[in-house]
Amino acid sequence: MKTEQTECRQCGTCCNSGGPALHKEDLSLIESGLLPLKRLITIRRGELVQKPDDTTPQAARCELIKIAGTGRDWQCFFYSDTGKGCLIYQDRPLSCRELKCWDTAAVEDLIEKNTLSRFDIVDKDEPIFAYIEEHEAKCPTPDMEALKHAVQAKSKIDLKSLEQLVNEDIRLRSAAVQDLDISLAEELFYFGRPIFQQLQLIGMKVTEAEGRLRLRWPS
Ligand code: SF4
Ligand code: SF4
Repeated sequence: MKTEQTECRQCGTCCNSGGPALHKEDLSLIESGLLPLKRLITIRRGELVQKPDDTTPQAARCELIKIAGTGRDWQCFFYSDTGKGCLIYQDRPLSCRELKCWDTAAVEDLIEKNTLSRFDIVDKDEPIFAYIEEHEAKCPTPDMEALKHAVQAKSKIDLKSLEQLVNEDIRLRSAAVQDLDISLAEELFYFGRPIFQQLQLIGMKVTEAEGRLRLRWPS
């Protein structure tokens, strides 16, 4: 997309719509502590994600690590509303440096290419590593885009398997939180968002009974 604009007006619109996905070139920002893990969120393959070249969320085709939003909001954690703009401007990640809203070709070229994953960041020797591997093996994120279309089309899906998956997801992440005493913000980096929350976002009804999550197809 190209427009008449030729330079950044520092309006913050791009920062307000979400933190960037990180690339291998950004690894040093994490290693130096400038981007601590509690300020990152993992988007696992299959999760719905808003890509810079589209207005409709699509399923991520690979794992992405993004700068987390502020609280419930997707606004980049490092964006200051008090006129200061980006608080890490000199060290902003690659895709922020490449983003020109008036000509998005460069940033579109970066989409899902050479991106970081948890396995580039977490060392195999760290106790959390085995928990992540087990969670990834037993609880892959379903293709949320396909599920969303199924919800809209009122198609039949295997609710029983999905229910087992959301409960196993909760069981495994709860075990890591309890055993390793990690915070909620760190949990979102190590395991991404709980699958049941993503299902709620596409319209699935989720309730709890006898210590288990139950799913209901919207009628
Ligand atoms: S790149 Fe565009 S949207 Fe982002 S701050 Fe600059 S002018 Fe605003
Ligand atoms: S890191 Fe800075 S430039 Fe990039 S989205 Fe966040 S506030 Fe904006």
